[in-house]
Amino acid sequence: MRDVVVLGSTGSIGTQTLDVIARNPDRFRVVGLSAGGSQLDLLADQVRQFAPTVVAVPDDTAAARLRRLVGAAGPEVIGAGGNEELAGRGSAVVVNAITGAAGLRPTLVALAAGTTLALANKESLVIGGRLVTDAAAPGQLVPIDSEHSAILQSLRSGKRSEVRRLILTASGGPFRGRSRAELTDVTPAEALAHPSWQMGRVITINSATLVNKGLEVLEAALLYRMSLDDITVVVHPTSDVHSMVEFCDGATICQASPPDMRLPIALALAWPDRVPDAAPGYDWGTPRDWHFEPLDDEAFPAVQLARRCGRAAGTAPAVFNAANEICVDAFCDQRLSFLGIVDTVAAVVDEHLAGGHVGDAELSVDAVLAADAWARRRATEVIGRS
Ligand code: NDP
Repeated sequence: MRDVVVLGSTGSIGTQTLDVIARNPDRFRVVGLSAGGSQLDLLADQVRQFAPTVVAVPDDTAAARLRRLVGAAGPEVIGAGGNEELAGRGSAVVVNAITGAAGLRPTLVALAAGTTLALANKESLVIGGRLVTDAAAPGQLVPIDSEHSAILQSLRSGKRSEVRRLILTASGGPFRGRSRAELTDVTPAEALAHPSWQMGRVITINSATLVNKGLEVLEAALLYRMSLDDITVVVHPTSDVHSMVEFCDGATICQASPPDMRLPIALALAWPDRVPDAAPGYDWGTPRDWHFEPLDDEAFPAVQLARRCGRAAGTAPAVFNAANEICVDAFCDQRLSFLGIVDTVAAVVDEHLAGGHVGDAELSVDAVLAADAWARRRATEVIGRS
């Protein structure tokens, strides 16, 4: 039996994690839940169903409201600082399914506590960079991202010294095939209509801009200690092949399954074991085509920009991520165009690299958070002027 803490339990990954746990009561037990506080009724329902010993929301007002919802006989309820408190309690597994840079401190606390970190919150790895990888013991950090889970599974096919490159697949999002000029007037509603995955708002917009794939390239480089030059992105619209590893003899090993996050979530919870029936496999009685095509870097420059940030390392990835989070909000509020998202992020990154950048050798949590705060202010100013 593994005791599990789920941070971000009310979101897309959080609810699917709880679904996997509910279907495997002999393997997993929920001991802690946290959420952002915008869906307290759902969180209270989860508390009633899973009976954790502790639950956290980001502020004391939300904590007081949650206490009223779950009643006096409910679990301990923590306000400010609760994610870190839960991450550090020494459970077997912490699932970090919070969105955005807010996931950094819980990631570091879980690793310091020696807990297995099932990581959906790629942002914490990308912005923390070597601070996170240095804190992780071998096998302690298990990715939930389907692409990185696919790579982890494919890597079992050979020795690390035999790996030539990693191939990350990208669905291409709802605007695949469009030129840059054809992206000028796209709306938030169109960008939120992802062809193959149901996900939270930020990652769905990031999939439309390909910023998500940029973050994933950086995530793969850090997780698997690969050079950015040895990570290729290929567009694969149906999201059947979740990613691939090419070995030195020319063999390419891939992991394929119908798009369903419960498979990589279950694997991360049970790692290195598989959970039977975590998700349905294929019906091979139906004809099926798997199509691959190169990424159009001109229409979707986000991956190239992410690579630049990865090469600069240090605080550059934190600036890339934070500026993007501000731009996604502005786009959804119709204060910024779709193309304006990556253009604005690029302008803020350029400014940061020209002055204020802290390199990997001097990197600290404070430097990352300062760069994050600066990028948010700067992106807000740039958007305000546009
Ligand atoms: P959602 O927006 O659906 O969910 C985010 C969750 O985080 C919600 O439970 C939200 O609570 C909670 N939250 C927000 N702020 C805080 C906070 N300060 N403390 C605690 N909880 C907080 O996002 P997703 O589930 O889609 O994505 C989560 C992470 O997983 C992201 O990093 C994303 O990139 C990654 N990911 C997601 C995939 C997917 O298929 N969805 C696939 C691969 C990776 P509430 O809404 O109740 O306020």
